[in-house]
Amino acid sequence: MNIAIDGPAGAGKSTIAKKVAEHLGSVYVDTGAMYRAIGLYMLQNGISMEEENAVLRALDHCDIDLRYLDGTQHIFLNGNDVSTDVRKEEVGKAASIVSKIMPVREKLVDLQRIIASKTSVVMDGRDIGTVVLPDAELKIYLTASSHVRALRRYEELRLKNAAEVPDLASIERDIRLRDEQDMNREHSPLRKADDAVEVDSSEMTIDEVTNCILRLASEKEGLH
Ligand code: C5P
Repeated sequence: MNIAIDGPAGAGKSTIAKKVAEHLGSVYVDTGAMYRAIGLYMLQNGISMEEENAVLRALDHCDIDLRYLDGTQHIFLNGNDVSTDVRKEEVGKAASIVSKIMPVREKLVDLQRIIASKTSVVMDGRDIGTVVLPDAELKIYLTASSHVRALRRYEELRLKNAAEVPDLASIERDIRLRDEQDMNREHSPLRKADDAVEVDSSEMTIDEVTNCILRLASEKEGLH
């Protein structure tokens, strides 16, 4: 069974997808990490991301690979484990810019489909239910208000490193900007698939959302 979880930045997709995958014994695939790895390559090599031709030339030099070490996903860029580097804020912004370019998407979508053809996955991203796995048995569109998403991000940053926490208003501004970019781009914009179930996690705990998705998954399984 393949499960697609799409939604805006900070809705809790990766936390939830990981838990759902663990319960079902499926493989969790974080597709955002792949776009982040390409963004990281552009940043590391000083490539101007708004220049499509420059990005396309560089794309040939990006070898992206997902490996599972002790059951945890690691993302490799040209043989180097960049799992920690890709989590940086500036890399997320870079990912959102390069992900607008069609050949970037095609390269990663191919890779994502290959992974899903070999094993049961819980895959999270922006276009999984609409483009990558249109036949996924269960599709979830996970949302939360931009204020709640900003608050969660603020708390996460505060727990990590109190010295460098941006103020809540600027985090919320960044989140809205990312939504705007992801929802309004020409190729594979973020949108709910017609057959996806929308789950608004604004007032739900992680366990409540996880259990809700597991319930939906078992209902689907019962139908097959
Ligand atoms: O989910 P995450 O924040 O790691 O994704 C980073 C960026 O990568 C997103 O803002 C989005 O622009 C892009 N992305 C995408 N399609 C996906 C996953 C991520 O366009 N399937």
